[in-house]
Amino acid sequence: MTLHFSVLASGSTGNAIYVETEDQRFLVDAGLSGKQMDALFQQIGRDMKSLSGILVTHEHSDHIKGIGIVARKYKLPIYANEKTWNAMNGLIGEVPVEQKFTFGMETVKSFGSLDIESFGVSHDAAEPMFYVFHHEGKKLVLITDTGYVSDRMKGIISNADVYVFESNHDVQMLRMGRYPWNIKRRILGDYGHVSNEDAAIAMSEVIGDNTKQIYLAHLSADNNMKDLARMAVSQTLEGQGIRAGEQFNLFDTDPKKPTALTAV
Ligand SMILES: [Zn+2]
Ligand SMILES: [Zn+2]
Repeated sequence: MTLHFSVLASGSTGNAIYVETEDQRFLVDAGLSGKQMDALFQQIGRDMKSLSGILVTHEHSDHIKGIGIVARKYKLPIYANEKTWNAMNGLIGEVPVEQKFTFGMETVKSFGSLDIESFGVSHDAAEPMFYVFHHEGKKLVLITDTGYVSDRMKGIISNADVYVFESNHDVQMLRMGRYPWNIKRRILGDYGHVSNEDAAIAMSEVIGDNTKQIYLAHLSADNNMKDLARMAVSQTLEGQGIRAGEQFNLFDTDPKKPTALTAV
């Protein structure tokens, strides 16, 4: 069996991604209520009872809201780096010490036939990091919540089979929108989120022969739209000489609806 995944929910109202192999089942973040998490799992025909563990990217509430509840209910191990643990303690309620595990920055951990690699991103949290999943020669990259994509990140994420890639905002919509200036500056800054255009430029530099699917993720509800993100990304890619729809396809993600459980 191959690597399968579903983006359960994506956006500032809550993030959660499910990844499985024949013998491992991981959840990356649980940024929705316990009830909503249960409903999302039901929609993909899986049960949180059978999870191997939860990987945490960073301590913002749209990524950890449901973590304590879910981990306690299903007695699941939680993995996060030390600084994230320090920032997260007190935000997720009591978690028994035997369920707390450290997953260091830029480390690879093996769980059966699944290798999980962490890498740092540029975001206003304690020590934010995302993950690359390796299984039987396939590579799945998750990268959202980053102000920009550095050369170091590009090296780690290059030529993946599947990307779940942040395409947070349309710069024009954000600039013209109702957000106060300090919030706009945060989002546009190096520790905020990547715009549609910046995401596409970074994509054009990391896409390789293996790349088949790109999921546009963490779209801003106020400063972006699915069609706009998709259009901006494919236009920018085209400007770089890369045509979506030929070698690879672009997919939407949704804040409330899971993407179909799909093979990498
Ligand atoms: Zn964040
Ligand atoms: Zn976020």
